[in-house]
Amino acid sequence: MPHPASATVAVIGAGVAGCAVVAQLRRLGFSGSISLWETGRGPGGRASTRRSRGDSQLVIDHGAPLLNITGTPPPQLLQPLLEGGWLEPWPGPVAMLEGESRLNIGRPDALGMGLLLHGPGGMDLLCRGLLQLAGGEGLAQHYGSFIRSLGRQPQGPWQLIDPEGSLLAEADWLVLSGTLLAHPRSQVIFGWDAVPLARVAAGLGDLQLDHVLLTLAGIRFEARSNLLLVLTGQAATAWRALPFRLVNFDAAAQQRWGLHRLSIQPLDDGRCAVVAHSSDAFAADHLDVYGARSAVARLLQLPADAGREQSVIQSLADAVGQCMAPWVPPLDLDEAAPQLMRWGAAFPIAPGLPSELMLCSRSRLGFCGDYIAGVGFGRIEGALRSAEALAQGLVAHLPPSA
Ligand SMILES: Cc1cc2nc3c(=O)[nH]c(=O)nc-3n(C[C@H](O)[C@H](O)[C@H](O)COP(=O)(O)OP(=O)(O)OC[C@H]3O[C@@H](n4cnc5c(N)ncnc54)[C@H](O)[C@@H]3O)c2cc1C
Repeated sequence: MPHPASATVAVIGAGVAGCAVVAQLRRLGFSGSISLWETGRGPGGRASTRRSRGDSQLVIDHGAPLLNITGTPPPQLLQPLLEGGWLEPWPGPVAMLEGESRLNIGRPDALGMGLLLHGPGGMDLLCRGLLQLAGGEGLAQHYGSFIRSLGRQPQGPWQLIDPEGSLLAEADWLVLSGTLLAHPRSQVIFGWDAVPLARVAAGLGDLQLDHVLLTLAGIRFEARSNLLLVLTGQAATAWRALPFRLVNFDAAAQQRWGLHRLSIQPLDDGRCAVVAHSSDAFAADHLDVYGARSAVARLLQLPADAGREQSVIQSLADAVGQCMAPWVPPLDLDEAAPQLMRWGAAFPIAPGLPSELMLCSRSRLGFCGDYIAGVGFGRIEGALRSAEALAQGLVAHLPPSA
């Protein structure tokens, strides 16, 4: 075991939980080296924002469009994020669409209760703000870096290994902020012969870690197939004029149209982005259609199946057109630059991993993310709270000055 004063930490995943654990470790006084590893092009994870190099006005929140805080006291990181301007109040009411085509303005669902917030100019500002709070010193951020497997001798450091089998980094402590390396779904998606963390755990003899792996293996996730549209001209004007920015679908409406939500995102130049989130049932029926720009398609180097992707896009667009027909003109898909974004593990299904299991100190390993049971489970609030709790547990093992 290395001397704690020189302890280093590697965090896999730069979503809300990964960025928050880094920020909170710094706030609690840990000044040692932290490396952050993320397969995406930037921070955000499921709360990320799609931006375009050639079109600076095009900013689309293709995952979570907002966050809601329901518990008291609020997460400790919330106030500094608000003070820094990284979050602001969500503008205006949300609406609920009922199966009978009735729009009920002001009726929230579970994702719309409590204090509603979003990132001004993109939800990815939340993670960018968290990293800003962490400060740059001693923090190495690595994007476009997929950790394929892990290595560890019982007394040695954790090893992070890339898809080619090369060693990327070593660290004394490891934080997993996503479940991919610890959950059997990685075997289903990528055809791997073992769950990477389970392979390492077999040599560690840590009963708590074995228990964590068993519990994680039982967690299931809801999926989403999201359709991204960019409307111009009269279509944009009509959508921008709606008196709400989010439409939730009640159970009957989800069944009728195969949609869970519509997120309406006016762009600064008069266009309007609309993101249609499918229902879980729709996504489950189209699980193998990834969307050409999805991370999984990129990692698997999947050949594009334009025909199947187009048919999913068409189904979702038809549903959007039909359910919103009373209020906006018909969609012209050719004019709307449609894109498909599939989230295979969009929302973990309760109960999740009990919080008392999140720190396996014997293995120098911590878990955080919205899959940890507690207030905010399955939401950004839960990702923040779990990261704060994990950081609190970690600092007992990591001294304030390195
Ligand atoms: C469509 C959609 C709508 C949502 N709407 C809401 C909402 O309205 N309100 C709300 O509160 N929440 C919402 N959520 C849920 C919310 O986005 C999540 O709860 C939150 O973002 C989870 O953060 P996280 O850090 O726990 O996980 P993630 O955001 O999943 O972060 C994990 C990160 O780890 C990275 N990663 C994983 N494995 C590896 C690896 N091996 N190597 C490198 N990187 C890796 C991933 O790329 C990812 O960036 C929504 C989610 C989706 C998909």
